[in-house]
Amino acid sequence: MELIRTPKVENVKMLDRFSNLSGNANKSNAGYLGTLYLTATHLIFVDQEGKRETWILHSHLASIEKLSISTAGTPMHIRCKNFRSVTFVIPKERDAHDLYTSLYQISQPLNIDDLYCFQYTASNEEFQSTKWKGWNKFNLLHEYERIGLPNNEWIISKINENYAVCDTYPRHLVVPANASDQMLRASTSICRCSQPLSGFKARCVEDEALLNCILSTNKMSDILYVVDTRPKINAMANKAAGKGYESEVFYENIKFYFLGIENIHVMRGSLQKLLDACELKVLSINAFLSALEGSNWLKHIKSVLETAVFIAQALIDGITVIVHCSDGWDRTAQTCSIAELLLDPYYRTIDGFEALIEKEWLAFGHKFTDRCGHIQTGDSKEVAPVFTQFIDCTWQIMQQFPFSFEFNEKFLLILHDHVYSCQFGTFIGNCDKERNDLMLKTRSYSLWAYFESQRSEFINPFYATREKSIIDAEGFLNFNCSSPCIRFWRSLYNRFDTGVHPRESITDLTVVTYNHIRSLEEHITYLEQVIIVKECMERLQQQHDYNVAEKMRESEKEKHEEKIDDDIRASNGLSVEDENTCESPTSNDEISNLIQSMETVALYWQSFRDAKECHCSFVFDHSARRYHCWACGDIYCVRCMEKQIVLPGHSQINCEKSENIDVGGDILQKSLKSEIHSTHQADSVPVCNYCYKMISQGLSPVSA
Ligand SMILES: [Zn+2]
Ligand SMILES: [Zn+2]
Repeated sequence: MELIRTPKVENVKMLDRFSNLSGNANKSNAGYLGTLYLTATHLIFVDQEGKRETWILHSHLASIEKLSISTAGTPMHIRCKNFRSVTFVIPKERDAHDLYTSLYQISQPLNIDDLYCFQYTASNEEFQSTKWKGWNKFNLLHEYERIGLPNNEWIISKINENYAVCDTYPRHLVVPANASDQMLRASTSICRCSQPLSGFKARCVEDEALLNCILSTNKMSDILYVVDTRPKINAMANKAAGKGYESEVFYENIKFYFLGIENIHVMRGSLQKLLDACELKVLSINAFLSALEGSNWLKHIKSVLETAVFIAQALIDGITVIVHCSDGWDRTAQTCSIAELLLDPYYRTIDGFEALIEKEWLAFGHKFTDRCGHIQTGDSKEVAPVFTQFIDCTWQIMQQFPFSFEFNEKFLLILHDHVYSCQFGTFIGNCDKERNDLMLKTRSYSLWAYFESQRSEFINPFYATREKSIIDAEGFLNFNCSSPCIRFWRSLYNRFDTGVHPRESITDLTVVTYNHIRSLEEHITYLEQVIIVKECMERLQQQHDYNVAEKMRESEKEKHEEKIDDDIRASNGLSVEDENTCESPTSNDEISNLIQSMETVALYWQSFRDAKECHCSFVFDHSARRYHCWACGDIYCVRCMEKQIVLPGHSQINCEKSENIDVGGDILQKSLKSEIHSTHQADSVPVCNYCYKMISQGLSPVSA
């Protein structure tokens, strides 16, 4: 790639926010020395011992800044869209200049076809084979059907089939059954809409008629709410500029509400200030709190949530609500989707949340390319953290209702990462039409397929899977918007700051404990069954011994009486001889087998607290996933846990030995075996590479 001038720079120092530039005041704050690599997709820093690797995806680069030269070299401050902030000190000015130029060009391609998703190929073969799956997971018509559309009042209109009416809206629109096509063309309103065209002077007759149509669809209420998500002052200004908002005078039975969510420019500035607060070098609580307050970020999050709660509450009261803002793809998307999240338990499942994003964000044209700054457009004023706010609001709701979501915090973090990573085609393009034109379905992977392939990672262990009727009854989450309930989300905005996060995440710990309990319970069942089998075998052995003794006694008796036929004696003699040499079912071999199978399941699992680095010497930071090996119970990094194996206790019991037992016993053994088989399906469990090797060779990992 010709954009990369210097693929490798040595003796680079990586500093985090707590390191000082001179790097010699305090050893722990001096940063790490290592090598910086620039590849086609990532900027990678590897420390000198090769223990720490920092990977930064080019698409995640938000800003690159060259600071003034110090004695150590040229510091380059990098801020990422996933809120990583890092400084590299490059010894030679020339290298620094080359790196800066390359990164600047690579981070934002000029052409949308140069985005990462069009080059990305999954290394995991299984995922590769399911590449197309995620793209077919959702269908807007199916989602309409799920919520009972079309019905008597609402129909699905084909008016926008070829995106002729509105190219930022989907092809299938749900509209009031008695609305005429002309009314729709004039205002394209579907209970979420952009600003109606009613201007300063001219009334818009079609708009008024359509609102009345919508009103008439609801038999329960003779009133309709129109929620304008903008602050009233902005709407007034727009009206003066000829773009207007509705005048209440012309709309009967309609109540207008202004709910005061600021525009994208205010939000962009607010996020910038929030990140400045997160990066403060001064570690005083007052400095942080006043910077946080000054950013107004939590105030904006609160106003989005308040609007969503207002909408949801109105719907609970049986009132139809029309939501709109200036364009209908930012604040409207935020508030409608959050209101739906509060109302419908389905949207709180993994599939439902994805469906919600597909419907309210992707189908209705939230401009992901522009808002995320995927490509160089020359207009950085289009970039805004609208979707980030939606994710933040979702997290706020999760804090109040921790049992109501199927997914966990990590799901939101990874989702946030990939909205900006451009690794998947899902969030490329500004609207449905653009995504179709780009042929993303055939040219890139879907993020939903990735989530599916890693599903177990994203499950909230506290999610209450209760009966559907109970979930529906408690369906509405009555979110409390009061100020003390709105929190700063450290795990997102300070995600890459080591030391500010708990050493043990409650969610991870719960999952590990569940798994450990499962492992132990399965092992207990296994051992209990082994005991039953052994007892049966002992009984059979006793019976067998008794039979042999009996036969021997009989033949002795017969010998003494000397009245036996030669043929009969021969056959008896053979059988007695045979039985005498028969191997005992409870041999030493079997005992050692049993001991080995006991040792291949870990009784103790290492605690997260002590796990500082993997056996391969990879250093765990708080975001690195730590895995337990089910065989030895130690903690490993992802690279040391590539294998799965069937362990005794988590699999079928080995009954080969007992198969030699004679007639009466055979029936008993078979029924026992089938019972064991039914409770223990062959189920492979994760083990470390070392244990995998040992167990595959028939050795016990513990005793070795
Ligand atoms: Zn192991
Ligand atoms: Zn490792």
